[in-house]
Amino acid sequence: MEDRRWWDEQAQTLPRPDLRLLQEERLREAVRRAFEGAPFWRRRFEAAGIGTDDIKALDDLSRLPPVRKSDLRASETEQPPLGDYRGVGLAGSIRLATSSGTTGRATFVTWTAADLRLDYELAARAHWRAGLRPGQVVVTAHPGYLNGGAAMTTGAYEHMGILPISVGPPESAEHAERVLRRLEGLPVDHWRLFPAALVRFREAAERIGSPVRLPEPEGVGPAAQSDKLSAGQECVSYLGSACGPGRGAHIAEDYAIVEVLDPATGEAVPAGQRGSLVVTSLGRDNPMLRYDLEDVVRVEDEPCGCGETSRRGFYEGRVKDLVPVADQEILPIDVWWELAPDAEFVLVRRPGADRLSVRVEHTGPVSGPDGLAGRLERRCGVPVDVEFLAPGTLARAGYKAVRVIDEP
Ligand SMILES: [Zn+2]
Repeated sequence: MEDRRWWDEQAQTLPRPDLRLLQEERLREAVRRAFEGAPFWRRRFEAAGIGTDDIKALDDLSRLPPVRKSDLRASETEQPPLGDYRGVGLAGSIRLATSSGTTGRATFVTWTAADLRLDYELAARAHWRAGLRPGQVVVTAHPGYLNGGAAMTTGAYEHMGILPISVGPPESAEHAERVLRRLEGLPVDHWRLFPAALVRFREAAERIGSPVRLPEPEGVGPAAQSDKLSAGQECVSYLGSACGPGRGAHIAEDYAIVEVLDPATGEAVPAGQRGSLVVTSLGRDNPMLRYDLEDVVRVEDEPCGCGETSRRGFYEGRVKDLVPVADQEILPIDVWWELAPDAEFVLVRRPGADRLSVRVEHTGPVSGPDGLAGRLERRCGVPVDVEFLAPGTLARAGYKAVRVIDEP
């Protein structure tokens, strides 16, 4: 069993015509479930002047306007506590968490038993691609309680037959040291940690001379950022992951319809071009129809050499981090590709700018930043000014790095 190439070979290698038929069958089911089960969706259909029979195929989806996080938040405010966008209420749910509230108040996420099992299945595809196998021991440090991350991760590992050890984020030096002492002698196969957590454990191991073997930090830098896709716990957490570095995330298209839209016009962009990620979840008790994640992605539709048949998505950044310069829109990842993976930098956004302004902490070898402006100009297609700063000058974020600042 451990030697098979995919977690779910049948689903992950489904021929594309069959995949489309499956998507459309599941789309009709999701539309019916949303319309019949949730007043929120019924109102949106009525406002668009359409009924459930008007959305039968993928091409019909565009008749329904995309929904955003702010719409879900408004529904929860108007009809507390859970809003009216869910197909199944608390009585039919077995888990509750809150979604990360990086912009505005967090919303609630609930799972039915069937939806939870589906999330575990999609998580297992991703963990399998990353080399995790049944019978292994895996340490995770996801946040728990209302965050839901630890429960989701450990649940998915258990679903796969993996033994998870959930140690929580290393919030203090003492915590990290205590974890390392407790785990001494346990046969850990993988440490699956966010880069910042791994750095803390490595520092702790050095301090106390721990014999625990920790991996080298990886998963930092633009390639790692672009290789994972999520549509959030409220939609499809494990939307996709890559079969190899830089190949883009294989999208779980049997359980999600992914559209890439021009944020200005709402029209679909051609394959390979940037646009905002809009996801319709399929096969769920709590469907989400055309959820606009306000993320910038591109999706390639050439077949991948690995044999999976899905399209592959690349995560490029947040819509709110787009920096207009002349006739281009630049994202932090465009600059990051020309810097070290752990570089500290910001893009400065100014109204009506015709030059891109970048500030970079100069921590690398002296030869590092030579010609940086020229390389950035070739990549971004606009004139670039680079300002080098002493290490430690830029503000450090506690959670997600701030890569764009606004100046007059
Ligand atoms: Zn592949």
